[in-house]
Amino acid sequence: MSAENQRDKNRKKAANARGRASERSEPPARPPRRTHILVIGGGLAGLAAAIRFRREGWSDFLVLERGHEVGGTWRDNTYPGAACDVPSHLYSYSFALNPGWSRSFSGQAEIQDYLIQVARRYRLRDHHVFDCEVLSAKWVEEHTHWEVETSQGAFVTDILVGGFGALCEPSQPDIPGIGDFAGHVFHSARWDHDADLAGKRVAVVGTGASAIQIVPAIASSVAELQVYQRTAAWVLPRMDRRYSRIERLACRYVPGYQRLVRSGIYWAHEAQAIALAKHPVLMKPVGLLARARMRREIPDPQLRRRLTPDYGIGCKRILLSNTYHRTFRQDHVELVTAGISEVREKSVVTDDGAEREVDAIVLATGFHVTDSPTYRKLFGKDGRSLGDVFDEVGRQCYKGTAIANFPNMFLLVGPNTGLGHNSMIFMIESQVNYLADAVATMKRRNLRSVEVRAQAQENFSSALQRKLSRTIWNVGGCASWYLDKHGANTTMWPGFSYEFRRITRTFDIDAYHVSTGGPR
Ligand code: NAP
Repeated sequence: MSAENQRDKNRKKAANARGRASERSEPPARPPRRTHILVIGGGLAGLAAAIRFRREGWSDFLVLERGHEVGGTWRDNTYPGAACDVPSHLYSYSFALNPGWSRSFSGQAEIQDYLIQVARRYRLRDHHVFDCEVLSAKWVEEHTHWEVETSQGAFVTDILVGGFGALCEPSQPDIPGIGDFAGHVFHSARWDHDADLAGKRVAVVGTGASAIQIVPAIASSVAELQVYQRTAAWVLPRMDRRYSRIERLACRYVPGYQRLVRSGIYWAHEAQAIALAKHPVLMKPVGLLARARMRREIPDPQLRRRLTPDYGIGCKRILLSNTYHRTFRQDHVELVTAGISEVREKSVVTDDGAEREVDAIVLATGFHVTDSPTYRKLFGKDGRSLGDVFDEVGRQCYKGTAIANFPNMFLLVGPNTGLGHNSMIFMIESQVNYLADAVATMKRRNLRSVEVRAQAQENFSSALQRKLSRTIWNVGGCASWYLDKHGANTTMWPGFSYEFRRITRTFDIDAYHVSTGGPR
């Protein structure tokens, strides 16, 4: 057949296919968009990865972001009082220090603005696909690539990076009747800014890191505030202050000054790992200090007793606030420690039979950390989802990054990378070092796929669990979201953050199965 005839035949075939599609009034399927690296999520972690790719001179990558802007948790958490409890000079990228931080612990808006500026500085806009939700990602062994379905069509990628974070999927409590509540009800991470709480009766459910910022921030404007506490939290003071103009000028113009300040903060925080992760007995004096402070802040002994935790300090995240405890001194603020049994149209009912009328309910009830819904959307070599694998064997992972059966997939902020004492950005940058070296190694050695060996993963996880068994998170006597449904701590890193930096400095290819042929 001549080339002309063949082209005619192809044209007819295409026209018929178009005809069939229009008969069904379906748009013709777009061919998948192909990229070498695909990052899911444009939060702190996804952004750090994208910047690193740019700095390496790689251009064949995309970042899929279900929101309309970068920032992840800092974009989503706009609740009153939202701020970081890690000092800003440390809670910022090492390659993008910000001499302009207005205070030692910056608020959400300032951090979000910083992240937008950094994304702009590295000209990442063309690499982002916003309002794009990942529906599924499937490893296709035959083609050694990932096929990704999204709300904006299909993508195909050689390497998949999970930058979807741990604190992005709000956990909604399953309280009977909550669906029939007539007033406003929303999660702290999805604050309803159309709901005017001024002069209203408001219930806040939960007393974690989000709630202890929300409660003091809204107390003065609401008519009545009920705080529903399931477990009391340990609270320490927050050394927050505005930076003077001189300090900001010094950070900007005095060579090395800001790095020095940052290092000082880093090492002061790093030292806390000695007590939290190595010798929990050292947390006892910290608990005594917290108790002494509570005596000053909460004169009423009965109230103080109810606000005092019954587990070792540090077992759950230690919260920082100068205002939370004293908020309960106000007459219109009530601490409720009975469990919630039911929500009615206009009220909250507790186990002791009491019913309190409310106009709005704020659910400061945390996130799906160990059971992220995204795990159910990632399908590995044998067709099982990551959720199914984790259900079976627990959240086992190699260096918080790679998982057996999931070739060419790298998680950021994966299992056991959480810190109770230092900046998560340090951990993220460590993982990005590892990821970048993996990608470079694959290019250099002409590898088509890398998959961590099950034995390497098993050894790594067992060693971690042994170390974790001695930490305050495991021996402190509390139930927390650090533990998964198997009771294993698959959230925290049991040591110094620089130890994690060391083991992620280079890609250790010997721990991986590889296939050759090079990326297409
Ligand atoms: P969280 O620490 O998980 O706290 C959730 C709170 O809701 C806990 O008090 C929990 O009680 C309670 N709760 C959950 N389900 C409940 C139910 N069904 N009924 C009654 N109470 C319920 O969540 P978060 O406060 O949003 O903080 C999550 C993490 O985000 C923090 O650990 C931190 O890493 C990060 N964060 C950081 C900052 C900051 O930098 N300042 C601010 C906010 C969040 P139990 O303790 O009994 O489970």
